[in-house]
Amino acid sequence: MGLGDRHQKKDVEAALRRAEACGLKVKHDRNGHRWGYVVCCPCDNKYVRVYCTPRSTGDEAKKIDDFTKHHRGCA
Ligand SMILES: [Zn+2]
Repeated sequence: MGLGDRHQKKDVEAALRRAEACGLKVKHDRNGHRWGYVVCCPCDNKYVRVYCTPRSTGDEAKKIDDFTKHHRGCA
């Protein structure tokens, strides 16, 4: 990810960094309320959507962390 690809909500940004640290791909592809995706390439590109302004940043971060936990061993 380059500069400018940071999520504006720090809880969510931290979860995205954790996902990257585990070898998952963070894809910034903004479209409406969507911020982008976290992708597990070895798993046939399974992904989870990330939203720009989730109702709960804690829940959004947990969703990303759950995906990371599930896919951390794939790469
Ligand atoms: Zn996976």
